[in-house]
Amino acid sequence: MPGILVIGEISGGRLLPASLEAAATGAALAKSFGEPLYGALMGQAGNVLNGATEAFAAGFATLYVVEHASLQNYTAHAHNGAAQAVVSACKPSVLMAPHTLRAREWAPSLAAALDTGLVLDCTGLATGGPDGADLVALKPVLGGGVVAEFVVRGTPTAPRMITLRSGASARAESAPNTQVERVAFEPASNDRVVLLEEIAAQASSGPKVSDAKIVVSGGRGLGGPDNWHYIEEAAAALGAAVGCSRPVADSGWVNSSHQVGLSGNSVNAELYMAVGISGAVQHLAGINSSAVVAAINTDAQADIFTRANYGVAGDYKEVLPAFVERVRQLKA
Ligand SMILES: Cc1cc2nc3c(=O)[nH]c(=O)nc-3n(C[C@H](O)[C@H](O)[C@H](O)COP(=O)(O)OP(=O)(O)OC[C@H]3O[C@@H](n4cnc5c(N)ncnc54)[C@H](O)[C@@H]3O)c2cc1C
Repeated sequence: MPGILVIGEISGGRLLPASLEAAATGAALAKSFGEPLYGALMGQAGNVLNGATEAFAAGFATLYVVEHASLQNYTAHAHNGAAQAVVSACKPSVLMAPHTLRAREWAPSLAAALDTGLVLDCTGLATGGPDGADLVALKPVLGGGVVAEFVVRGTPTAPRMITLRSGASARAESAPNTQVERVAFEPASNDRVVLLEEIAAQASSGPKVSDAKIVVSGGRGLGGPDNWHYIEEAAAALGAAVGCSRPVADSGWVNSSHQVGLSGNSVNAELYMAVGISGAVQHLAGINSSAVVAAINTDAQADIFTRANYGVAGDYKEVLPAFVERVRQLKA
């Protein structure tokens, strides 16, 4: 029976949490379409794949697992061979995955191979059309100022495809999968990409900005890298992740993995603190789903205050240390 297929991603030896966000969105769509929810994972047989299979417990009717040595190190070619094996096994009506760097590569190539429609980096899904059978993908466009609706077309034999922005929805609650099925896969021998060496990006300390419950983010208003310690001290006091605006990342004050916004991370935090950030639409696009936003900015007219639930119009050098001191007192 056709269903909604969610392909999870294994990264850094574990299931990427955004896979569970995609599973939650997939579950809602499966309910609307009255179809079963399927999951899929691919990798080399072993502890990492076993751990991810256990972690990807999102109540799938079937979790398809493809094991092969060629899947140990990601290449789009091997990944898509395995994805096609899963598509043949369950014939989904919709194929979804988290929008990651890898998905930016493999998803368009898979859509081309299947000759089907794909919308990348969606922030939500809806159904439409007279019989409710249309898949409508919501995606910010024009620099994040407008949310466009795309009706995704597939073919009678190929699923419609979607990648979902991380942080755009909550993660699926843990629920046992009904069954796990291994799918046989033999890679084609014509993979023109060979991994010669893997150089891990410098790991940033503290929680990851896209996973964190609290984020303290700094912008160009900090004035320079020498002042960045104000942000780090506030983040440490709150047990928060450190975020930044794009100019801060572009100027190399901090690693770009901390960037929040349209071309950076989406944040799904309980508290997002924006310090010296003006609140451009491209920045706001990354914090839309945060529950509470607090801002410190010298300009009382700054756009960040249109999104902030709490704000202080003032110099962060006066406001932030006093705030940090109070947090420390309360925690003591
Ligand atoms: C295609 C595209 C994608 C983009 N993607 C992103 C993205 O992902 N993320 C992102 O952030 N931007 C992104 N941008 C850039 C975005 O348009 C803005 O330029 C950027 O967000 C501005 O960063 P900022 O708020 O740190 O700097 P500014 O706009 O320069 O704002 C600095 C703020 O600090 C305040 N300030 C100054 N001094 C102090 C002080 N002492 N105390 C307190 N406040 C002070 C100022 O009043 C000002 O509001 C993108 C742009 C484009 C075109």
